[in-house]
Amino acid sequence: MSDPIAEAIETVGATLDAVERALTRLREGTYRTCSTCGAPLDPEALGTDPLLEHCPAHAEPR
Ligand SMILES: [Zn+2]
Repeated sequence: MSDPIAEAIETVGATLDAVERALTRLREGTYRTCSTCGAPLDPEALGTDPLLEHCPAHAEPR
């Protein structure tokens, strides 16, 4: 994609999706656990990235 505005909108959309997943996880009580293996997430890592969804073993490269 070469249009920087379309690219920015894409990025915002992806962030919005991540926020919605985080809110769902908060409601379901799984916010502080890895969504792949259920391991508790490092509170410090969550402080750095509140949209963190995976433990280091299951982290996807961004
Ligand atoms: Zn995991």
